[in-house]
This record gives sequence, C-alpha cells and structure tokens, in this order.
Amino acid sequence: MKTFSIAIHGGAGTLVKGMMTPELEAQYRDALKDALDAGYYLLENGGTALDAVEASVKVLEDSPLFNAGKGAVFTAEGTHEMDASIMEGKHLEAGAVSLITGIKNPVSLARDVMENSYHVFLAGDGAMKFAKEQNYQLEQPDYFYDALRYKQWQEIKDSDNFQLDHASAKVSDSKKKDSKFGTVGAVACDQEGNIAAATSTGGMTNKKWGRVGDSPMIGAGNYANNKTCAVSCTGSGEFFIRGVVAYDVSCLMEYKGLSLKDAADEVIHKRILDIGGDGGLIAVDADGNIAMPFNTEGMYRASKSSMGTEDVSIYK
Ligand code: ASP
Repeated sequence: MKTFSIAIHGGAGTLVKGMMTPELEAQYRDALKDALDAGYYLLENGGTALDAVEASVKVLEDSPLFNAGKGAVFTAEGTHEMDASIMEGKHLEAGAVSLITGIKNPVSLARDVMENSYHVFLAGDGAMKFAKEQNYQLEQPDYFYDALRYKQWQEIKDSDNFQLDHASAKVSDSKKKDSKFGTVGAVACDQEGNIAAATSTGGMTNKKWGRVGDSPMIGAGNYANNKTCAVSCTGSGEFFIRGVVAYDVSCLMEYKGLSLKDAADEVIHKRILDIGGDGGLIAVDADGNIAMPFNTEGMYRASKSSMGTEDVSIYK
C-alpha cells in the first residue's frame, strides 16, 4: 500500500523546556495528539488528504490553547478576526477567508469558498455574507473569550503595539520580529498520493487596520501541489508574505530538483532568516515524506505516517 502521512502544527516560537508547567505541557501534547489522530483516522480509512487536513485543523480550532478559532487573539477593537485557507494538490483548487468573525471553524468556511463559490479568497463583510448564505451559525463573542488572551490584549490595548500570540516582547512596528506564534495548520498525503494543506489563525493581538498575515494567502502561508509538496507555515506573517514561503519550498523542488527536506530547510534556515523572518513550517510530498523545520526555539508539532512513525514534540 502507498505510504500515507499527516503533520500538524500549533505555532512556533520561544518555546523553551521548563517555561510551561508540566500540566499545561501535557494539555498541549494531548491537544496535538487529538488533532493528529482525527486526520490520521480518515487517511487510514481511505479518506482524502483534504478531509484529513480540515479535520485536524478543526480540532485545533476548537481548542482554546491555540490562536485559531476558539483561541483566537483579541484585535485592537476587542473583537476576534480570523483568517484561514485550504488547498488541494491534484487540481490546485484553493479557498481562503480573512477578517471573519464569529465563525467556529474558519477552515471549513475556506473550504466552502473553494467548493461552493467561483472565487478563491473572500474577506471581511463579504466573507460573512457568504457564510450566512452557506447557513453558518455565528458564535457569540463569549465563545472566543479566554482570560489569558484578554490579559495579553489589556496590556497593550491603548498603544500602537501589536503582538504575536503568547509573545513576551512587544513589537511596535512590523519590521521588528517577535518570538511566539500560535497559528495552526495541517498537511497530509493520502493513499492515492494526493496532498493538501490547511492553515488557520487569529493573527496578532491588538492588530488593527484590517491587518492580514500570511496564513490565508495561497503561496505565502499555505500551498499544495501534488508535483511537489503541501506546506503550512507559522511565523512572522509579514516576512512570510514577502518570502512567498510556501510556494518557495514548492519552487525549489520543482525548478531545482531539491528533496522535500532540503527545500524546506533552505527556506526556513536560510531564505526567511536572510530577510529577518522567524518561524517554521510543516510539509509533506506525494510519497508521504514529512519535513517540519523551524528556526525558533520550538514549534508545537506532531506527525504520523503509515510507515509506523509517530511524533508529538514542542522543543528543538
Ligand atoms: N503567521 C501568522 C500571522 O502572521 C502568525 C502565526 O504564525 O502565529 O498572522
């Protein structure tokens, strides 16, 4: 049987061993394992990579631990504006949403854009009108309330600072980099050799002006092509947009003939660093190989393959 595999992430950053209580660390590991299993279960039963990445990302969106869905950070207005995208590698179909509010699972709305509209990317009020037409029920703001995220917002809310998820340092302009990212994502290769990627985020605490990061941008934070790879990124979004990171990994494989691992390493350990960005990515190819490089201290991540490998990790 063909090798199938899945990898997920819950953000990269200054994740140093000993910083978290053992209880909290166990919660993160359990949540990652649950998300991994949800996608792997589908793959194991002949499901598609597309269904698997959506299923895994939904589990992460439903957890308050990650900056996506339920755990989305607060904007400067005290709201939650979420971005998500999904792409499949056989026909290069893709869907994305940004600046949406009240949606429990933004990744599913991105998939509906892909499957039930003529478009790829819907934003803001328009995306919300589309969600209504697709019969989405809206969650009340208290569904997204989290005491820690509220505190993070309160600390900077009256300033021009914005902050990547759980960050200890503040950034006052987008040229500066910060240390923790809580976006979630999944990539998978199914038994047919089709691959897919999905990414979902709440963006940055105290963000304003309709700021959108790399996560919903096809080619920057998310990309899939059966010929090369499926990629989901986490990191300093402005840099990942400028580096067109996910597509760059694919290009290095397609045009330069690099392996999945070499292409992913080249982008994360060289190209994105060269322009000042930090973060990581997860990637699979159509042979079920997995790469999960990051240039930060840690990245919440997990992977499982039909070859019998399974891993749930946080630190380097
Ligand atoms: N890349 C995301 C953004 O800039 C942040 C993250 O990875 O947590 O919106």
